[in-house]
Amino acid sequence: MKRIAVLTSGGDAPGMNAAVRAVTRGTLAKGWEVLGVRNGYAGLVAGTMEPLAARDVGGIMQDGGTALGSARSPEFTEAAGREKALRNLATRGVEALVVIGGNGSQTGSAALSREGFSVVGIPSTIDNDLYGTDVSIGADTAINVTLEAIDRLRTTASSHQRAFLVETMGRDCGYIALMAGIAGGAEVIVIPERDIEPPEVAERLRAAYRRGKTHAIVVVAEGARRGVHALMEHYKEHRDSIGFELRLTRLGHVVRGGAPSAADRVLATRLGAAAADALAAGRHGVLVGLVRNEIEQTALGEIAGRMRPADAGLLEMARTMAL
Ligand code: ATP
Repeated sequence: MKRIAVLTSGGDAPGMNAAVRAVTRGTLAKGWEVLGVRNGYAGLVAGTMEPLAARDVGGIMQDGGTALGSARSPEFTEAAGREKALRNLATRGVEALVVIGGNGSQTGSAALSREGFSVVGIPSTIDNDLYGTDVSIGADTAINVTLEAIDRLRTTASSHQRAFLVETMGRDCGYIALMAGIAGGAEVIVIPERDIEPPEVAERLRAAYRRGKTHAIVVVAEGARRGVHALMEHYKEHRDSIGFELRLTRLGHVVRGGAPSAADRVLATRLGAAAADALAAGRHGVLVGLVRNEIEQTALGEIAGRMRPADAGLLEMARTMAL
Protein backbone atom coordinates (compact mmCIF):
# COMPACT_ATOMS: atom_id res chain seq x y z
CA MET A 1 0.00 0.00 0.00
CA LYS A 2 1.35 3.41 -0.94
CA ARG A 3 -1.50 5.89 -1.25
CA ILE A 4 -4.96 6.11 0.29
CA ALA A 5 -7.78 8.68 0.14
CA VAL A 6 -10.13 9.88 2.86
CA LEU A 7 -13.54 11.59 2.63
CA THR A 8 -16.38 12.76 4.84
CA SER A 9 -19.90 12.09 3.58
CA GLY A 10 -23.58 12.65 4.39
CA GLY A 11 -24.69 14.89 7.23
CA ASP A 12 -21.77 16.59 8.93
CA ALA A 13 -21.08 15.49 12.49
CA PRO A 14 -18.90 17.06 15.19
CA GLY A 15 -15.71 15.00 15.36
CA MET A 16 -15.36 14.36 11.61
CA ASN A 17 -12.30 16.64 11.56
CA ALA A 18 -10.67 14.70 14.39
CA ALA A 19 -11.27 11.52 12.39
CA VAL A 20 -9.69 13.01 9.23
CA ARG A 21 -6.69 14.10 11.31
CA ALA A 22 -6.32 10.63 12.83
CA VAL A 23 -6.66 8.80 9.51
CA THR A 24 -4.13 11.18 7.93
CA ARG A 25 -1.52 11.03 10.66
CA GLY A 26 -2.05 7.32 11.34
CA THR A 27 -1.46 6.67 7.64
CA LEU A 28 1.49 9.05 7.21
CA ALA A 29 3.12 7.35 10.19
CA LYS A 30 3.15 4.13 8.16
CA GLY A 31 5.05 5.87 5.36
CA TRP A 32 2.10 6.11 2.95
CA GLU A 33 0.53 9.12 1.27
CA VAL A 34 -2.98 10.46 1.90
CA LEU A 35 -5.30 12.38 -0.42
CA GLY A 36 -8.21 14.35 1.03
CA VAL A 37 -11.34 14.19 -1.17
CA ARG A 38 -13.48 17.36 -1.24
CA ASN A 39 -17.23 17.14 -0.59
CA GLY A 40 -17.71 13.42 -0.08
CA TYR A 41 -18.71 11.13 -2.93
CA ALA A 42 -19.44 14.18 -5.12
CA GLY A 43 -15.70 14.98 -5.01
CA LEU A 44 -14.82 11.38 -5.73
CA VAL A 45 -16.99 11.47 -8.88
CA ALA A 46 -15.55 14.88 -9.88
CA GLY A 47 -11.99 13.82 -9.05
CA THR A 48 -11.29 16.66 -6.61
CA MET A 49 -8.68 15.32 -4.20
CA GLU A 50 -5.45 16.81 -2.90
CA PRO A 51 -2.55 15.46 -0.81
CA LEU A 52 -2.82 15.95 2.94
CA ALA A 53 0.31 16.53 5.01
CA ALA A 54 0.48 16.29 8.80
CA ARG A 55 0.34 20.11 9.12
CA ASP A 56 -2.74 20.33 6.85
CA VAL A 57 -4.82 18.55 9.47
CA GLY A 58 -3.48 20.61 12.39
CA GLY A 59 -5.84 22.95 14.23
CA ILE A 60 -9.06 21.37 12.92
CA MET A 61 -9.77 18.86 15.70
CA GLN A 62 -11.69 21.37 17.82
CA ASP A 63 -13.91 22.54 14.94
CA GLY A 64 -17.38 21.16 14.28
CA GLY A 65 -18.50 20.31 10.74
CA THR A 66 -15.95 19.01 8.25
CA ALA A 67 -13.03 20.90 6.73
CA LEU A 68 -13.02 18.49 3.77
CA GLY A 69 -16.66 19.34 3.05
CA SER A 70 -19.56 16.96 2.62
CA ALA A 71 -22.34 16.59 0.08
CA ARG A 72 -25.18 14.34 -0.95
CA SER A 73 -24.28 12.75 -4.30
CA PRO A 74 -27.18 11.15 -6.21
CA GLU A 75 -24.71 10.31 -9.01
CA PHE A 76 -22.71 8.03 -6.74
CA THR A 77 -25.78 5.88 -6.00
CA GLU A 78 -25.72 4.83 -9.71
CA ALA A 79 -23.19 2.28 -11.01
CA ALA A 80 -22.06 4.77 -13.70
CA GLY A 81 -21.24 7.38 -11.04
CA ARG A 82 -19.23 4.86 -9.03
CA GLU A 83 -17.35 3.81 -12.19
CA LYS A 84 -16.30 7.44 -12.65
CA ALA A 85 -15.18 7.54 -9.02
CA LEU A 86 -13.16 4.33 -9.44
CA ARG A 87 -11.50 5.73 -12.59
CA ASN A 88 -10.50 8.88 -10.69
CA LEU A 89 -9.04 6.82 -7.85
CA ALA A 90 -7.06 4.71 -10.33
CA THR A 91 -5.77 7.80 -12.18
CA ARG A 92 -4.46 9.21 -8.91
CA GLY A 93 -2.90 5.90 -7.90
CA VAL A 94 -5.13 5.51 -4.84
CA GLU A 95 -5.26 1.94 -3.54
CA ALA A 96 -7.73 2.28 -0.66
CA LEU A 97 -10.40 4.66 0.61
CA VAL A 98 -11.54 5.59 4.12
CA VAL A 99 -15.17 6.77 4.28
CA ILE A 100 -16.22 8.77 7.34
CA GLY A 101 -20.01 8.95 7.42
CA GLY A 102 -23.40 7.59 8.41
CA ASN A 103 -25.80 4.94 7.16
CA GLY A 104 -26.16 6.10 3.57
CA SER A 105 -22.44 6.74 3.25
CA GLN A 106 -21.56 3.25 4.47
CA THR A 107 -24.11 1.75 2.07
CA GLY A 108 -22.12 3.58 -0.61
CA SER A 109 -18.82 2.21 0.72
CA ALA A 110 -20.31 -1.30 0.74
CA ALA A 111 -21.18 -0.81 -2.94
CA LEU A 112 -17.60 0.29 -3.78
CA SER A 113 -16.22 -2.64 -1.83
CA ARG A 114 -18.51 -5.09 -3.68
CA GLU A 115 -17.20 -3.62 -6.92
CA GLY A 116 -13.66 -4.58 -5.90
CA PHE A 117 -12.15 -1.47 -4.29
CA SER A 118 -10.55 -1.54 -0.81
CA VAL A 119 -12.68 0.53 1.58
CA VAL A 120 -12.73 0.98 5.34
CA GLY A 121 -15.68 2.79 6.93
CA ILE A 122 -15.68 4.96 10.03
CA PRO A 123 -19.10 5.50 11.68
CA SER A 124 -19.92 9.17 11.94
CA THR A 125 -23.48 10.40 12.37
CA ILE A 126 -25.19 12.28 15.18
CA ASP A 127 -28.17 9.90 14.73
CA ASN A 128 -26.15 6.94 16.12
CA ASP A 129 -28.21 4.57 13.98
CA LEU A 130 -25.32 2.60 12.46
CA TYR A 131 -25.09 -1.12 12.98
CA GLY A 132 -21.57 -2.37 13.87
CA THR A 133 -20.74 0.19 16.57
CA ASP A 134 -22.21 1.08 19.94
CA VAL A 135 -21.58 4.73 19.27
CA SER A 136 -20.89 6.86 16.20
CA ILE A 137 -18.78 10.03 16.03
CA GLY A 138 -20.94 13.11 16.69
CA ALA A 139 -23.67 11.53 18.80
CA ASP A 140 -22.13 12.53 22.14
CA THR A 141 -21.85 16.19 21.13
CA ALA A 142 -25.44 16.18 19.82
CA ILE A 143 -26.64 14.78 23.16
CA ASN A 144 -24.74 17.47 25.03
CA VAL A 145 -26.15 20.28 22.88
CA THR A 146 -29.67 18.92 23.44
CA LEU A 147 -28.97 18.59 27.15
CA GLU A 148 -27.81 22.18 27.43
CA ALA A 149 -31.06 23.31 25.79
CA ILE A 150 -33.09 21.17 28.22
CA ASP A 151 -31.24 22.62 31.23
CA ARG A 152 -31.84 26.16 30.00
CA LEU A 153 -35.51 25.55 29.24
CA ARG A 154 -36.02 24.02 32.68
CA THR A 155 -34.80 27.23 34.31
CA THR A 156 -37.32 29.37 32.48
CA ALA A 157 -40.07 26.73 32.70
CA SER A 158 -39.91 26.55 36.49
CA SER A 159 -40.43 30.30 36.80
CA HIS A 160 -43.72 30.15 34.87
CA GLN A 161 -45.29 26.74 35.68
CA ARG A 162 -44.64 25.71 32.12
CA ALA A 163 -43.97 22.49 30.32
CA PHE A 164 -41.72 22.42 27.29
CA LEU A 165 -41.74 20.09 24.32
CA VAL A 166 -38.16 19.89 23.07
CA GLU A 167 -37.73 18.34 19.64
CA THR A 168 -34.26 17.07 18.80
CA MET A 169 -32.68 15.44 15.73
CA GLY A 170 -31.90 11.79 15.03
CA ARG A 171 -33.87 10.89 11.90
CA ASP A 172 -35.64 7.57 12.56
CA CYS A 173 -33.55 6.81 15.64
CA GLY A 174 -34.43 8.02 19.14
CA TYR A 175 -30.92 7.78 20.60
CA ILE A 176 -30.23 11.53 21.07
CA ALA A 177 -33.70 12.14 22.57
CA LEU A 178 -33.40 9.14 24.88
CA MET A 179 -29.93 9.93 26.20
CA ALA A 180 -30.51 13.68 26.54
CA GLY A 181 -33.90 12.96 28.13
CA ILE A 182 -32.34 10.68 30.75
CA ALA A 183 -29.46 13.09 31.42
CA GLY A 184 -31.85 16.05 31.61
CA GLY A 185 -34.39 14.32 33.85
CA ALA A 186 -37.22 14.64 31.30
CA GLU A 187 -40.73 13.90 32.52
CA VAL A 188 -41.59 12.19 29.22
CA ILE A 189 -39.42 10.91 26.33
CA VAL A 190 -41.01 10.23 22.93
CA ILE A 191 -38.96 8.14 20.49
CA PRO A 192 -39.75 6.20 17.29
CA GLU A 193 -38.71 2.89 18.88
CA ARG A 194 -41.69 2.97 21.28
CA ASP A 195 -44.91 4.70 20.27
CA ILE A 196 -46.75 6.78 22.81
CA GLU A 197 -50.00 8.55 21.97
CA PRO A 198 -50.61 12.24 22.74
CA PRO A 199 -53.34 11.50 25.35
CA GLU A 200 -50.83 9.46 27.35
CA VAL A 201 -48.22 12.22 27.19
CA ALA A 202 -50.91 14.66 28.36
CA GLU A 203 -51.88 12.31 31.18
CA ARG A 204 -48.27 12.08 32.36
CA LEU A 205 -47.97 15.85 32.35
CA ARG A 206 -51.22 16.15 34.27
CA ALA A 207 -49.96 13.62 36.82
CA ALA A 208 -46.64 15.49 37.18
CA TYR A 209 -48.59 18.71 37.78
CA ARG A 210 -50.72 17.01 40.45
CA ARG A 211 -47.56 15.69 42.15
CA GLY A 212 -46.58 19.31 42.64
CA LYS A 213 -44.01 19.75 39.88
CA THR A 214 -43.51 23.37 38.91
CA HIS A 215 -42.39 22.52 35.40
CA ALA A 216 -41.96 19.59 33.05
CA ILE A 217 -39.87 18.67 30.01
CA VAL A 218 -40.96 16.36 27.19
CA VAL A 219 -38.12 15.37 24.85
CA VAL A 220 -39.38 14.33 21.43
CA ALA A 221 -37.29 12.68 18.70
CA GLU A 222 -37.87 14.21 15.25
CA GLY A 223 -38.66 10.73 13.90
CA ALA A 224 -41.39 9.94 16.46
CA ARG A 225 -44.54 8.80 14.70
CA ARG A 226 -46.72 11.01 16.92
CA GLY A 227 -44.32 13.93 17.07
CA VAL A 228 -44.47 17.55 18.20
CA HIS A 229 -47.26 18.53 15.79
CA ALA A 230 -49.62 15.82 17.03
CA LEU A 231 -48.70 16.67 20.62
CA MET A 232 -49.35 20.41 20.18
CA GLU A 233 -52.66 19.71 18.40
CA HIS A 234 -53.77 17.53 21.29
CA TYR A 235 -52.69 20.17 23.76
CA LYS A 236 -54.70 22.89 22.02
CA GLU A 237 -57.85 20.81 22.44
CA HIS A 238 -57.17 19.84 26.07
CA ARG A 239 -55.35 22.93 27.31
CA ASP A 240 -57.33 23.30 30.54
CA SER A 241 -56.98 19.75 31.80
CA ILE A 242 -53.18 19.50 31.55
CA GLY A 243 -52.24 21.98 34.27
CA PHE A 244 -49.11 23.32 32.66
CA GLU A 245 -48.94 25.83 29.87
CA LEU A 246 -47.13 24.01 27.04
CA ARG A 247 -44.49 25.57 24.77
CA LEU A 248 -42.56 24.09 21.88
CA THR A 249 -38.84 24.40 21.09
CA ARG A 250 -37.47 22.69 17.98
CA LEU A 251 -33.68 22.51 18.10
CA GLY A 252 -33.15 21.53 14.45
CA HIS A 253 -29.65 21.86 13.01
CA VAL A 254 -28.35 23.59 16.15
CA VAL A 255 -27.94 20.03 17.50
CA ARG A 256 -25.21 19.15 14.98
CA GLY A 257 -23.24 22.40 15.25
CA GLY A 258 -20.45 23.48 17.55
CA ALA A 259 -17.23 22.07 18.90
CA PRO A 260 -17.00 18.29 19.32
CA SER A 261 -17.02 16.97 22.90
CA ALA A 262 -13.92 15.35 24.36
CA ALA A 263 -15.62 11.95 24.02
CA ASP A 264 -16.23 12.51 20.29
CA ARG A 265 -12.64 13.66 19.70
CA VAL A 266 -11.26 10.61 21.50
CA LEU A 267 -13.63 8.26 19.66
CA ALA A 268 -12.74 9.84 16.30
CA THR A 269 -9.03 9.55 17.05
CA ARG A 270 -9.33 5.89 18.06
CA LEU A 271 -11.42 4.98 15.01
CA GLY A 272 -9.22 6.96 12.61
CA ALA A 273 -6.12 5.20 13.89
CA ALA A 274 -7.96 1.86 13.73
CA ALA A 275 -8.86 2.45 10.07
CA ALA A 276 -5.19 3.00 9.19
CA ASP A 277 -4.23 -0.09 11.21
CA ALA A 278 -6.90 -2.18 9.48
CA LEU A 279 -5.54 -1.25 6.03
CA ALA A 280 -1.98 -1.95 7.20
CA ALA A 281 -3.15 -5.43 8.27
CA GLY A 282 -4.62 -5.99 4.81
CA ARG A 283 -8.20 -5.66 6.06
CA HIS A 284 -10.87 -3.85 4.02
CA GLY A 285 -14.56 -4.08 3.24
CA VAL A 286 -15.19 -3.41 6.92
CA LEU A 287 -16.49 -0.73 9.26
CA VAL A 288 -14.27 -0.07 12.28
CA GLY A 289 -16.52 0.53 15.28
CA LEU A 290 -16.47 0.54 19.04
CA VAL A 291 -18.26 -2.42 20.64
CA ARG A 292 -18.14 -2.69 24.45
CA ASN A 293 -15.26 -0.19 24.33
CA GLU A 294 -13.16 -2.42 22.07
CA ILE A 295 -12.39 -1.70 18.41
CA GLU A 296 -14.27 -4.19 16.24
CA GLN A 297 -14.53 -4.69 12.50
CA THR A 298 -17.85 -5.55 10.88
CA ALA A 299 -18.27 -6.41 7.20
CA LEU A 300 -19.74 -3.45 5.28
CA GLY A 301 -22.16 -5.85 3.60
CA GLU A 302 -23.69 -6.59 7.02
CA ILE A 303 -24.13 -2.91 7.83
CA ALA A 304 -25.72 -1.65 4.62
CA GLY A 305 -29.47 -1.27 4.95
CA ARG A 306 -29.55 -2.15 8.66
CA MET A 307 -30.37 0.20 11.49
CA ARG A 308 -29.35 0.20 15.12
CA PRO A 309 -32.33 1.28 17.25
CA ALA A 310 -32.14 3.13 20.55
CA ASP A 311 -32.53 0.95 23.65
CA ALA A 312 -36.22 1.51 24.42
CA GLY A 313 -35.78 -0.62 27.55
CA LEU A 314 -34.29 2.47 29.22
CA LEU A 315 -37.63 4.31 28.95
CA GLU A 316 -39.04 2.54 32.01
CA MET A 317 -36.08 3.62 34.13
CA ALA A 318 -36.42 7.20 32.86
CA ARG A 319 -40.12 7.14 33.80
CA THR A 320 -39.36 5.96 37.34
CA MET A 321 -36.85 8.77 37.74
CA ALA A 322 -39.49 11.34 36.76
CA LEU A 323 -41.57 10.60 39.88
P1 ATP B 1 -26.38 11.04 8.14
O1 ATP B 1 -26.84 9.78 8.81
O2 ATP B 1 -25.59 11.88 9.07
O3 ATP B 1 -27.44 11.80 7.42
P2 ATP B 1 -25.56 9.52 5.84
O4 ATP B 1 -24.24 8.97 5.51
O5 ATP B 1 -26.64 8.53 6.20
O6 ATP B 1 -25.35 10.60 6.99
P3 ATP B 1 -26.88 10.06 3.28
O7 ATP B 1 -27.29 11.35 2.69
O8 ATP B 1 -27.93 9.04 3.53
O9 ATP B 1 -26.10 10.44 4.62
O10 ATP B 1 -25.77 9.38 2.34
C1 ATP B 1 -24.64 10.10 1.91
C2 ATP B 1 -24.27 9.73 0.50
O11 ATP B 1 -23.98 8.33 0.43
C3 ATP B 1 -25.35 9.95 -0.56
O12 ATP B 1 -25.41 11.28 -1.03
C4 ATP B 1 -24.92 8.99 -1.66
O13 ATP B 1 -23.94 9.57 -2.48
C5 ATP B 1 -24.30 7.83 -0.88
N1 ATP B 1 -25.29 6.72 -0.80
C6 ATP B 1 -26.40 6.68 -0.04
N2 ATP B 1 -27.10 5.55 -0.25
C7 ATP B 1 -26.41 4.86 -1.19
C8 ATP B 1 -26.61 3.60 -1.85
N3 ATP B 1 -27.67 2.82 -1.59
N4 ATP B 1 -25.68 3.22 -2.76
C9 ATP B 1 -24.60 3.98 -3.03
N5 ATP B 1 -24.38 5.17 -2.46
C10 ATP B 1 -25.25 5.61 -1.54
